[in-house]
Amino acid sequence: MKVLVINCGSSSLKYQLLDMTYKSVLAQGLVERIGMSGSQLTHKRGELKKVILQKLSNHAEAISLVLESLTNPKYGVVGNLQEIKAVGHRVVHGGDKYASSVLIDDIVMQEIKKYGELAPLHTPKTITGIETCKKLMPGVPHVAVFDTAFHQTLPPKAFLYGLPYELYEKYKIRKYGFHGTSHKYVSMKAIEMLGKPLSESKIITCHLGNGSSITAVKGGKSVETSMGFTPLEGLLMGTRSGHLDPAVVTYIMDKEKLSASQVNDYLNKKSGALGISGVSSDFRDIEAAASQGNYRAQLALDMFAYVVKHYIGAYANVMNGVDAIVFTAGLGENSITMREAIIRDLDYLGAEIDPVRNNVRGKQVDVSKDGSACHVLVIPTNEELMIAQETVEIVSCCFKAS
Ligand code: AMP
Repeated sequence: MKVLVINCGSSSLKYQLLDMTYKSVLAQGLVERIGMSGSQLTHKRGELKKVILQKLSNHAEAISLVLESLTNPKYGVVGNLQEIKAVGHRVVHGGDKYASSVLIDDIVMQEIKKYGELAPLHTPKTITGIETCKKLMPGVPHVAVFDTAFHQTLPPKAFLYGLPYELYEKYKIRKYGFHGTSHKYVSMKAIEMLGKPLSESKIITCHLGNGSSITAVKGGKSVETSMGFTPLEGLLMGTRSGHLDPAVVTYIMDKEKLSASQVNDYLNKKSGALGISGVSSDFRDIEAAASQGNYRAQLALDMFAYVVKHYIGAYANVMNGVDAIVFTAGLGENSITMREAIIRDLDYLGAEIDPVRNNVRGKQVDVSKDGSACHVLVIPTNEELMIAQETVEIVSCCFKAS
């Protein structure tokens, strides 16, 4: 069964066409700078790479170009679009309505639009993506896979903020959590690697990339996570501040004469590792600058490792122990020194890194010392495969039921 996975970002679109019989990737690509000058699509089929420079005013035009590329006689992978049996769409926000993936019908579309208010950068683009795919691929089932769904198992004591309860009732202000597809995928892989019964497992998953979050997964369920009402809460990230005293927000607004949307921009795009280091939001650049003796770059790295450590401690407490700490995403999978800095002095938890095993990038490896009570695992995330798997499950289940 061939499944197309679409992930619409605010000005980008990632796609993968997978053959789910073999769980293999037939083609994948990235459309960048949608709605800006210099938009382009990079399409890959195995070793073959095709770059198409074309003006793309919106995500509808981007989807059309993706589908044309997949069916192109020279670099495409299917003869026609009927060969694609289902489409899985990454949807950032499913509010408190969706605890799992769902077949998209008119009612689901309305709900996605409703929760779009909570993810205004992404959801309108996702909606355009779904509508365009539906138009160009009539009769093909479309499935929504929500970033928030995995965290719907958080108990109220974990997801509520200490605000008047009416605000939760009126506006659904609560912690939702994000990166759910990634946390679910790597926690399942970790449980497989540990060979422990699912019901007894206690895993902390650290998704450390440009956006970063940590989740406590107990018995296969998310019980606590670091991102909140929006992805701004939690860890210091590439450009996001992460947690801070809320009074700082009104203070900055007052002092810098910023509007609500300007301060939101400040905290989401100008803060975090970029704001502290003054060098870059990319940890590779920051690590390079720190190794040249740049004080603020080193400070950003130290702050990042410290806050991750802080959450690991809290989440081990929440679960009354931890069997494995998992590192995933760009930084988690690739930064040997960052993993080392985070795990340093966590021997009280039974977590110790073996420096030889830790000398690895982007591979699934247990990097802990022999006999460690708490394993340290590097597990490359694969959100596209997870979305495709969920799409197959939902489609098979719906067809069986009808
Ligand atoms: P992601 O959001 O998962 O794509 O991760 C992107 C981030 O991972 C980049 O901004 C870098 O900060 C980080 N990253 C990727 N490769 C490396 C590496 N080899 N060393 C350190 N950081 C890396």
